[in-house]
Amino acid sequence: SCELAVSNSDVYDLDRAYVFHSWSVQSALKPLVIAGGAGCRLWDYDGKTYLDFSSQLVNTNIGHQHPKVIAAIQEQAGQLTTIAPATANLARGEAAKRIVERAPECFNKVFFTNAGADANENAIRMARLYTGRDKVLSAYRSYHGNTGAAIVATGDFRRLPNEYARGHVHFFNPYLYRSEFGAQDEAEECSRALAHLRRIIECEGPASIAAILMESIPGTAGVLVQPAGYMQGVRALCDEFGIVLILDEVMSGFGRTGRWFAFEHFGIQPDLITFAKGVNSGYVPAGGVLISDPIAAFFNDRYFPGGLTYSGHPLAMAAIVATLDAMAEEQVVENAAAIGEQLLGPGLQALAAKYPLIGEVRGLGVFWALELVADPVSRTPLPAATMAAIKSQLVAEGLLPFIVDNRIHVVPPCTVSADEVHEGLAILDKVLGQIA
Ligand code: PLP
Repeated sequence: SCELAVSNSDVYDLDRAYVFHSWSVQSALKPLVIAGGAGCRLWDYDGKTYLDFSSQLVNTNIGHQHPKVIAAIQEQAGQLTTIAPATANLARGEAAKRIVERAPECFNKVFFTNAGADANENAIRMARLYTGRDKVLSAYRSYHGNTGAAIVATGDFRRLPNEYARGHVHFFNPYLYRSEFGAQDEAEECSRALAHLRRIIECEGPASIAAILMESIPGTAGVLVQPAGYMQGVRALCDEFGIVLILDEVMSGFGRTGRWFAFEHFGIQPDLITFAKGVNSGYVPAGGVLISDPIAAFFNDRYFPGGLTYSGHPLAMAAIVATLDAMAEEQVVENAAAIGEQLLGPGLQALAAKYPLIGEVRGLGVFWALELVADPVSRTPLPAATMAAIKSQLVAEGLLPFIVDNRIHVVPPCTVSADEVHEGLAILDKVLGQIA
């Protein structure tokens, strides 16, 4: 096979010669070489295999190289590889229908984007036009994507209805382990975080606030599962002040938490839902906005000033259809819930009981974070050099982790098996044992 003709060093050298990487100091990079994968496994050209407990950027919810998704992409490629967004396309309609079927009843329209960031851009645009207001409130502990300048830089008429792209205000979301509010327990953290959010709304002027944008469960910020009552409180504030609630389900959606959408855990509904990643496990880039009926109705007879060349790209759409069908047929979301409750959660808690350097374990489904601390009393984060050592030891042992700051995010595909969880926990145990 062509894999045998190539070595890790060929691929590494090629990358370092020509590829400019994201979020990096280029000269400090040592990218891992990956040749192929299947399920929760990846391998390089020299025969080393890895257990993927990162799901890459927390997106391969269905695992690597799912045969049904590959077949669907191949079939669509044979029929029609690309088509403009203004056309009616079978794969696009089928993809939108399947996403709508998994959402609450009042969501019946989908606007497709290329990824998560532009999903949030468009949800914000919709909220601003719908409310006639311009400010957007979002949490300090959040990540919503990496765009923002393109439409403002645009010179033609499409810039004008978007020129109010300003007015972002941040607030503190709940994080009991490092409480900004001096809270002692979850109930206190919840009530104080809601009082803080109310004060921000009052001080900014409710009549100027278009939207509150939040991750249903902040992911990259540390899998910060919101305390009971918090999301209901945010929903109530939005209702009181006529603010659109946008929930970002880019990382938390499509099975990650053991539900189709993470907000289902909180018994509330947003007005707009943004998604990407897990919707087709990133086999072909895609994202989008799920639009609730009142907002969809608003645009029935009004111009929507937004669009993308590849909105609803047929290859991405075929991948969505096959991914969502396979996830339903193979009970992938149910697997994520059961694995989290029965194995992964208890297994990580057992590690925390063994190693004081694990300050806190948070999560649900296949969405977990271990917060590592130099001292459990002061909760001082483990230093960056130690985290780097942990990362390289985990990789050397064949486990790919998702590491952010002083945290190991344990986020395998939703298809992960009990055996793979045991294997991953054993590697974590070994490496943490060496560090401790
Ligand atoms: N929103 C959340 C919650 C994310 O985690 C991410 C990416 O990690 C994004 C948005 C941005 O998505 P993308 O990188 O596909 O633009």
